[in-house]
Amino acid sequence: MVPVGIEVQNLKILNNHEKLNFNYMEAFSPTPPEWTNNAIHAYQFCCPNCKSSSREALQVWLNRRSPVMTEDHRRKWQEFYNCHCGNAWWAWSSDRPPTDLSNQKDINPI
Ligand SMILES: [Zn+2]
Repeated sequence: MVPVGIEVQNLKILNNHEKLNFNYMEAFSPTPPEWTNNAIHAYQFCCPNCKSSSREALQVWLNRRSPVMTEDHRRKWQEFYNCHCGNAWWAWSSDRPPTDLSNQKDINPI
């Protein structure tokens, strides 16, 4: 009971602090959530339907169990995003713009 309580509390603090809607426990879950079944491959790192960025997604799931080697021998994996427009999409982690992660702490949701 106690460890679960601590986890939930930390998650809440993390969410408040980062000001993100992501469910971190789901993002790193070993099993894919239902909504990833309908995800389509986005060749640019944004929603193919409404062009929203990955930071605006409601849910995220990283397929880290099956990484793929890139041409320069680095690992890449599928990143799934459930967009607020109802469209689910995925893209390779290697295609994520480099500035995307470093800017996440500065997100100011309106
Ligand atoms: Zn969208």
